[in-house]
Amino acid sequence: MAGLYDASRDDFAAALGNQPAFRVKQLWEGLYQHFQQPSEILTLPKDVRETLTREFPPQLEETSVSVSDRGDTVKFLWRLIDGGHPIETVLMHYRDRATVCVSTQAGCAMACGFCATGQAGFNRHLTPGEIVEQVVRAARRSAERNQRVANIVFMGMGEPLANEESVWRAVERIHGDIGISARHLTISTVGIIPGIKALAARDLPVNLAVSMHAARNELRDELVPINRRYPIEDLMQACRDYLTVKNRRISFEWAMIAGVNDQPRDAEELARLARQLRPSAHVNLIPLNPTPGWPTKGSSKTAVYAFAKRLEELGVNVTVRQNRGTDIDAACGQLAAGQPVLMKTRSRAETI
Ligand code: SAH
Repeated sequence: MAGLYDASRDDFAAALGNQPAFRVKQLWEGLYQHFQQPSEILTLPKDVRETLTREFPPQLEETSVSVSDRGDTVKFLWRLIDGGHPIETVLMHYRDRATVCVSTQAGCAMACGFCATGQAGFNRHLTPGEIVEQVVRAARRSAERNQRVANIVFMGMGEPLANEESVWRAVERIHGDIGISARHLTISTVGIIPGIKALAARDLPVNLAVSMHAARNELRDELVPINRRYPIEDLMQACRDYLTVKNRRISFEWAMIAGVNDQPRDAEELARLARQLRPSAHVNLIPLNPTPGWPTKGSSKTAVYAFAKRLEELGVNVTVRQNRGTDIDAACGQLAAGQPVLMKTRSRAETI
C-alpha cells in the first residue's frame, strides 16, 4: 500500500471500494487544501476515515521541532517511517508569507566538504510523497500563525537533481494540488547537467538556483567535487540552454568562505560567469555557516559587503542573504539530522 502522500486518487478509490466517487475528492481536498489527516476530515464517514488511517499511514514521524529567531525559524527533524532515516525541513516565517525548505534525499552523495549533509553521506532518495509531506506538515504549522506558505525551496538535505523524477512529481503535486505557483518554487543544484536538462524539458517554469561557490575549475573541483564530472564550461552551457527554454532568471548561490572564494579575483571571475547568461544570473551571497567537519570560517560581514559591492560595480545583481536558525543548526548547509559527520583532519589551507 502506498504512503499517504504517495497515493494517487486511483489508489484511494481502489481502497474505498464502492464508496461514491466524491469521497476521494473530499479526501484530496482535506489532505492538500486543509492539510488534514484522514481522521480529521469529518465530511468523510467514520468507517472511511478508519480505513484510510489504517491503509495510508503518514510517511514521516516527527522526532523533534526546534525554534529560533523568536519563533520565525522552525526546524523539523523527522524519521522516515520506511527505513528510519532522519531528515530535516525548515519553515521560515517572513512578515507576510512563509517559505519551506524541503529535503529531497536522506543525506547526500555530493560530498561538498563544507556542507554538513555532504559530510554525513547518502542514505536514500526520498519519494515524491515524502517530499510533499514535508510541505504539508510545515504548512499546517504555519497555518497556526495564520500564515500561508508561499514559497518552496528545494534546498534542504540532498541533491534534488540527483532525484529529479521524484522531485518533479512532488513539484506537480505542490503546484497542482496545494496550489503554489511554479514561480514560487526553486530547485537548487550543485550542477548535475543531465538533471538540468531533464528540468528544462519539464512543463512548469520553476526557478533554478546553481550552487556555484567558485568560478574557476581548480577551486570548484575542490569545493564542489561533482565539478570534476560537470565542469564550469559545460554547466554554463546547460544554464544557457535552460534559460533559452524557460526564460526565467537563474540564480547562483555563493557561500562565502574566508580567504578562499571572497577575494576581488573571485568577484571578477563570478561576474564574468553571471554575465554570460542573458539575463545575467542573480547572485545570492551567504557567509559560510559553521559545520562540524569543515575548519574554514565564513567571511566577515565587511568582506561580504565588499564582495557584493564589487559584483554590483561589475554589473551583476546581488542579494546578501540573512542567516536563519544558525543556533539550531537550521541554516544553509547545517542540516545533518543528527547524523555523525566525517571530520576533515587537515585544514583546507593545507589541502590546496
Ligand atoms: N544539493 C543542492 C541543494 C542544497 S541547497 C545544492 O547544493 O544546491 C543548500 C545550499 O546551501 C547550497 O547552495 C549549498 O552549497 C549551500 N551550503 C552548503 N553548506 C553550506 C554552509 N556551510 N554554509 C552556507 N551555505 C552552505
